[in-house]
Amino acid sequence: MSPQALRRLSVAELEALIRPSGYYTVKTHKLKALVSWVGAHDDDLAAIFVENTEQLREELLAVYGIGEETADSILLYAAGRPVFVIDAYTRRLVDRVGIPHEGAGYSGYQRLFSLNLPPDAAMFNEYHALIVEHGKRTCRKMPLCLSCLLLDVCEYGLSQTAETLLIQGARKQQPGTGRPRSNRPARGTGGLTP
Ligand code: SF4
Repeated sequence: MSPQALRRLSVAELEALIRPSGYYTVKTHKLKALVSWVGAHDDDLAAIFVENTEQLREELLAVYGIGEETADSILLYAAGRPVFVIDAYTRRLVDRVGIPHEGAGYSGYQRLFSLNLPPDAAMFNEYHALIVEHGKRTCRKMPLCLSCLLLDVCEYGLSQTAETLLIQGARKQQPGTGRPRSNRPARGTGGLTP
């Protein structure tokens, strides 16, 4: 549906359309704010995306309902800018692996990636997608550390493994290490090399 069509819908009509997605009342107001902002730019996304990244990010953050993660998702996925998106999966993985970063705020996590990786939008896109997939499949809320490729470099995973082995008592040990067998990825720039 085009921004123009979304603007023509009444709040009640839009709420009815997106009701199945949950939180539809809040989402309706956010969508209305977004298409209103796009309308203020003559619905010309190409012209909007000509702006430099910092300016565009500031504009996006000024729109009701757009936070840093959403703004950066638009910058990366829609505008093709090399901006790393930080979401809950990324924070959880970084924290569990134990990669040092500047503070617990969004920018601290983001700088970890932007300072250690080349500014490549396609690679950021793929990298983030892989983190999300890993978070869904393996590094879940209840992580499946014993089947994780990052086990040997993960502080949390290693701290959990001994206890898990004691409980399960069924995993083979690598000779001389006392650690469970796993496929260890090469260490790179802060462990970030994709
Ligand atoms: S070892 Fe466990 S905590 Fe660490 S990244 Fe893998 S699944 Fe997550």
